[in-house]
Amino acid sequence: MRGVVIDGVESTGAEPVRTAGNVLFAVLLFALCMFVVAHYIHSEQQGDAEMQRFHALQELATLRARIEGHLNANLVAIRTLRAELALEPVVEPERFRRLADEVLTDELHTRHVALAPDLVIQHVQPLAGNEEALGLDYRDNPAQFASIEAALEASDILISGPVELVQGGQALIARVPVYRHRSDELWGVISQVIDHQSLFADAGLFEMGQWSVAMRGVDGKGVHGDAIVGTDELWTLDPVTVPIDLPVGQWRLAAMPASLSWERPLASYSRHWVLGVLLALTATLLINSLLISHLRLRRAFSTISHQARFDGLSGLPNRQFFTQHLETQVRHCRRQHQRFALMFLDLDHFKEINDSLGHEAGDDLLQSCSQRIVAAVRGDDMVARFGGDEFVILVRELSDPVDAELAADKVLAALEPPFVVAGHEVSIGGSVGIAVYPDDGASASDLLKHADLAMYAAKSAGRGTSYFYNESLRHQSETHLKLHREIQLGLTNGQFEVYYQPMVDAADGSLRAVEALIRWHHPEQGLLNPGDFIAVAERTGVIRELGLRVLQQGCADCRRMLAEGLDIKLSINRSPREFNDRKMVQRWLETLAREELEPERVIVELTESLLMPDRDRQHQLLRDLHEGGVRLSIDDFGTGYSSVTYLRNFPVSQIKIDGAFVAHMLEDDSQYALVEALVKMAQALGLEVVAEGVETADQARTLAAMGCHLLQGYYFARPMPAAELIERYGLASTSDQR
Ligand code: C2E
Ligand code: CA
Ligand code: CA
Repeated sequence: MRGVVIDGVESTGAEPVRTAGNVLFAVLLFALCMFVVAHYIHSEQQGDAEMQRFHALQELATLRARIEGHLNANLVAIRTLRAELALEPVVEPERFRRLADEVLTDELHTRHVALAPDLVIQHVQPLAGNEEALGLDYRDNPAQFASIEAALEASDILISGPVELVQGGQALIARVPVYRHRSDELWGVISQVIDHQSLFADAGLFEMGQWSVAMRGVDGKGVHGDAIVGTDELWTLDPVTVPIDLPVGQWRLAAMPASLSWERPLASYSRHWVLGVLLALTATLLINSLLISHLRLRRAFSTISHQARFDGLSGLPNRQFFTQHLETQVRHCRRQHQRFALMFLDLDHFKEINDSLGHEAGDDLLQSCSQRIVAAVRGDDMVARFGGDEFVILVRELSDPVDAELAADKVLAALEPPFVVAGHEVSIGGSVGIAVYPDDGASASDLLKHADLAMYAAKSAGRGTSYFYNESLRHQSETHLKLHREIQLGLTNGQFEVYYQPMVDAADGSLRAVEALIRWHHPEQGLLNPGDFIAVAERTGVIRELGLRVLQQGCADCRRMLAEGLDIKLSINRSPREFNDRKMVQRWLETLAREELEPERVIVELTESLLMPDRDRQHQLLRDLHEGGVRLSIDDFGTGYSSVTYLRNFPVSQIKIDGAFVAHMLEDDSQYALVEALVKMAQALGLEVVAEGVETADQARTLAAMGCHLLQGYYFARPMPAAELIERYGLASTSDQR
């Protein structure tokens, strides 16, 4: 409904809570929360894994200490034997047995020791079960000789293995070369066979519980990749490792959790998950409910503010809102020096209908009235309900008080047809009081008060009418309205005639164009010139119908002139107001097509004011007109807003120098200079120049000498009816053409 949209605030009533959007938002929010939860659990998992590694390292360090301890305890035996033999290399069986008994105690893991002078095993202690080893020449046993050579090279205790023993089973073998005292002559090699299984067992290697442990060495069977203990697979994973230092070389111990992964499976964080989901749900619900309540609040606020500004029954702005708006309008028009009208409308007989048919019917009637009023006013006018059966209407952009009266008439006419309420046909009318800014008040309250007073005057003058507050405006409006109606009547009764005034070639006086000028055969006042009615027609808007009539007649007459052999152009006058109507140019072009006159023959005369900036809409229409083939001319050039810029920016092809300049140019030097300057300027812009109001031969000669192309004025001919013009200038005529 028009009149309800104000300052871009659309009063659509309650704004629905967007349910679908809310659900989507909640889902997204929950997803986000769950993402945070998952991220948290993942980092927990990483933290746990780090903890596990730390524990594993601690365990391995303990294990390492124990293994190294046990190994060293065992190696005391071989070290002692080496020292003894270096001092006294002669080995008697009895001495060896005694020495061996001394060093081989029960808590060691040594199975036996063997002496191999010159690399041939000659003594083994204890001998029982190891007899087969006696007499073994290492040089004949490639498997063992490699480690003998390595021990010789290292010249220290070298532990190799686990190796397959000649006497069966597996064991580690520690070997050390022995050199004779104070010489580097090799005596032989001592070997100590160590039962690694029991050593590792004592060190606790097989009781690692939750850990999977592996060990490999750099020597013998333990060379990288060959496991001494555990599987190779563990090394391909990501174990923590510690070294075990040997007299020569190292072993490495590795450990991982028994599951072979440091990270506990995500599923094992079930408590975290449950808690996380609960938290995410809570957060989602909380935020969502906050959001919904915020939306509800906003909706409530907008409803309240709507209710505060609009009338609940009609949906129109209420008194308070309208008054605010009116104050803004007053400020705006004070700055812009514009007029507007305020109309106070009171329904006649509403009270009786309300009393007899009931309040519901009364409400229905008010709604219907509001709709009709809104439909009757222009789109940018504002209608408000002031309560009861009172309405006010703001009529903007008032060019004449008569506009307000015409608007009031329209509203009253709209209320005239009977309404049907509660099954009854009821007739209702209204009375309108009009106050005009600034004539009737400089403030919103004064204007309202005066419009109200005028409304009472209208009521007492006889219902169904409008009344101006201001006496002179009332009078002005009355005369304008009278003229307006007479013009309308004159149009239907064919009282208007178009006269034509020749425009002749400045060089030879031959007829080039005619200007169409309207005349009114007024039933009481006789022949009227445009000066008597055009201004009012422009203000009331009836100029549009007049303009169309002149164009139609002009086309028809022009065709007759052409048929009579007059090769002329037709000049038509147009008022700025005619360019306010979007459809107008279209209608003119259609008229030309219907009347079968080429647009190129037509020149439209405009006033300079139309070309002023800030009139984009009109400018577009000018361009449309030009594109339609019609030429544009600037009438009364030099009297108004003369600017070279607009002449350049618009597709203008002709200027007409105002007759007032021509009239005095020969007596007044400054006028002469002005006309000369205008002609020069137009020539520089490549425009055709017409001089108007040429009344004497001197003027005609001077203007022709200055370079004017066409001349128009009483000296050549006065405006005359088409028939007369044809008679004077047509081929049939023989009269002189000056
Ligand atoms: P305008 O367009 O400047 O028209 C020229 C006016 O000067 C005409 O007056 C014409 O009769 C008058 N005139 C011509 N030669 C001489 C001369 O030598 N000496 C003197 N003193 N006057 C001369 P008219 O016909 O009374 O028209 C007055 C104005 O009314 C026109 O001025 C034009 O602005 C407007 N008008 C006339 N017909 C129409 C129309 O159909 N539509 C519109 N919108 N305006 C029109
Ligand atoms: Ca003109
Ligand atoms: Ca003129």
